[in-house]
Amino acid sequence: MRIALYPGSFDPITYGHIDVLRRAKRLFDKLIVAVVENPRKTPLFTAEERKKLVEEALAEEGICGVEVITYSGLLIECAKKVGAVAVVRGLRATSDFDYEFQLALTNRDLDSEIETVFLMTAGQYSFLSSSIVKEVKLYGGDVSKFVPRCVERALEAKFKALGAKVNPHAL
Ligand code: ADP
Repeated sequence: MRIALYPGSFDPITYGHIDVLRRAKRLFDKLIVAVVENPRKTPLFTAEERKKLVEEALAEEGICGVEVITYSGLLIECAKKVGAVAVVRGLRATSDFDYEFQLALTNRDLDSEIETVFLMTAGQYSFLSSSIVKEVKLYGGDVSKFVPRCVERALEAKFKALGAKVNPHAL
């Protein structure tokens, strides 16, 4: 069985992530989404909230058979633990390339058996990011084209709960 791991912050999951996920699902026998507990940026949602949102979004989109886990520490260790043959990453515009290149080559140094597979998103999502969605929603914009309804509701609840404590620069 060929297992692939799709890791990321998913803070929160967007239609861009979901587009990559659907493509990856067609290529592998099993896909596992791994929500990182310690992303590079301070997340808006906790790891458990982000995991739950991925699960709810998948259910809303009618996507079955994808496992969702959280992990902390080295991505490659997580990939080994779940028996993945590949790590899936999404590519948007060229802005992703430098970081993704660095990450893929570092992971190859750590374990040459696990390949990184890059999948290109659909054109309409190629400029979409979790940060943009959070910013648009914070200022009252419509994000229904970018995220499933459950994510939109979670953003509304989170911003309401945080009130004036939201730091737009940390989104
Ligand atoms: P990370 O902090 O690991 O980059 P993200 O949740 O931002 O976590 O992204 C996870 C993966 O999904 C990355 O490979 C990223 O390039 C990809 N990704 C994010 N948004 C999109 C999108 N709109 N289209 C395609 N891939 C995306």
